[in-house]
Amino acid sequence: MITDFAARLKLPAFRVKQFNQAVYQQFVSSIDDLTTWPKSLRQELGSETAFFHFSKTQDFISQDGKTIRTLMTRTADGKLIEAVLMRHRDGRNTVCVSCMVGCPVGCRFCATGKMGFRVMLSADEIVDQVLYFARRYKKITNVVFMGMGEPMLNLKAVLAAISTLASPEKMGLSQRRIVISTSGYLPQFQELIKSGFRGRVAISLHAPNQKLRSQLMPVAKIYPLDKLLAVMDEFVNLTNKRVSYEYLLIAGVNDQDVHARQLVGLLNRRLAHVNLIPYNPILGESYRRSSPSQIRRFKGIISQAGIPCTVRVTMGDDISAACGQLAGKFSTGTSN
Ligand code: SAH
Ligand code: SF4
Repeated sequence: MITDFAARLKLPAFRVKQFNQAVYQQFVSSIDDLTTWPKSLRQELGSETAFFHFSKTQDFISQDGKTIRTLMTRTADGKLIEAVLMRHRDGRNTVCVSCMVGCPVGCRFCATGKMGFRVMLSADEIVDQVLYFARRYKKITNVVFMGMGEPMLNLKAVLAAISTLASPEKMGLSQRRIVISTSGYLPQFQELIKSGFRGRVAISLHAPNQKLRSQLMPVAKIYPLDKLLAVMDEFVNLTNKRVSYEYLLIAGVNDQDVHARQLVGLLNRRLAHVNLIPYNPILGESYRRSSPSQIRRFKGIISQAGIPCTVRVTMGDDISAACGQLAGKFSTGTSN
């Protein structure tokens, strides 16, 4: 938000530094609190740049108090987006950000996909979601691009947001603490890696073969499974970083032993981690979550093959804050 303003006014570098410290490190909650700047300069900035790009926010807090889902109304057009804060027991505070209103990819199991595409968010709007929680909790340790939208289809804004989050002069978050999740747009993914991104990558895999994957996720028809895995191999060779494969477990659809064995076949010689996600039911789709015993069986097959495998702890599903449930709607959670 400061770059154009500073360039136009030819502000000395120390003024930009003061701004960055106040906004991205002390998390001031208004331009008036930028007290290292003279009042006239604050007023000038305030008259032409928005300090926060959402005109209204509403929090929904899970019963255990650990998850906060916040609806934010875009000042630009009144459309709603959602961001989620997860306060983990180990001290991590993770913000899950949206990069779009809605999503054009249309995965069958996803509430965001069902609402269709509305609009791309700007880099400032992405960063504002993190700042919103940082202003209240100070310590944000992780950021995941797992909210509404497909990061690869809004790559420019996502990269600019990451630059603000990771830059030592600004928020200074280590890239290792940033996760980008993608359904698999390969040219854009290659561009992400070329840009120097060295954070963590999660691939929404959700099926162990091309046929089933393309039934669940239309993107698989454009970028098939073998190409996806080949590009991930390139990423691993370049960075030596493990790829996290996200795998939803939907009862009777992709959760059978045969699927687990196929998944082992795909990943057993790769630097991979499998994150199993119990399916969160969404409106308008009859899929059901796999039973706990089938989830255990599935995990057992993956783990026995020596592939690191975890089951995602579902946080905040009582307030529709869990993965794939974000659809910019008011829910029955406790609002404040
Ligand atoms: N568009 C990106 C990032 C947002 S989705 C992507 O698809 O990766 C974040 C994660 O939630 C993805 O792994 C997605 O597949 C998963 N997800 C979508 N719908 C879900 C549902 N109903 N239950 C559980 N997880 C879901
Ligand atoms: Fe979009 Fe991701 Fe949902 Fe698919 S899972 S529709 S890519 S947000």
